[in-house]
Amino acid sequence: MFYPDLTPYSYANHGRDSFTDMTTGYRSVSFTAPYQRTNIGWLDAKEPWPAGSVPAAFAEKLQAVLAVQAVNECLGHHDCDLCPDDPPADRQTWRRPGHLRACSGTGEIRVPAQPGGSAFAAPRLIGHYVLDHGYRPPQEFIDAVLAFDLDCPAEPGWARFPWIPSDAEVSDG
Ligand SMILES: [Zn+2]
Repeated sequence: MFYPDLTPYSYANHGRDSFTDMTTGYRSVSFTAPYQRTNIGWLDAKEPWPAGSVPAAFAEKLQAVLAVQAVNECLGHHDCDLCPDDPPADRQTWRRPGHLRACSGTGEIRVPAQPGGSAFAAPRLIGHYVLDHGYRPPQEFIDAVLAFDLDCPAEPGWARFPWIPSDAEVSDG
């Protein structure tokens, strides 16, 4: 699934976002996104992508976001296209020797852009791309991740995203 960085998000074109509660793994809150979504990190081996070192604080904060946020998990599973071959069957958690993160994943993350009103939309595999393949996202994404307050007030409180509408639908299954 390739989309150039900084283009409008269209993967889930029904316009809705769904955040899973990472503390239980099954509750979720879903709503029609009241913010613009901008693609970041939808890489494909057949398309050029920017490589380079990233600040250590960014790599650390990106992993903190990935630890608490999972968006649109239902929309399918991606294997890393940059790795030389496919992961084995227990691919959810399998890490290639020497790699820091699994080369397969599901779901996305949302990071409030600066200034507000739009959010970066990245696949959760972005952690693997940055840490294991040396992908360097655009500077505005790096800045936004560093500025993201993961303790932001949110309703429901576990959602870890500041722009969830008050009429968002919480589901326990
Ligand atoms: Zn890979």
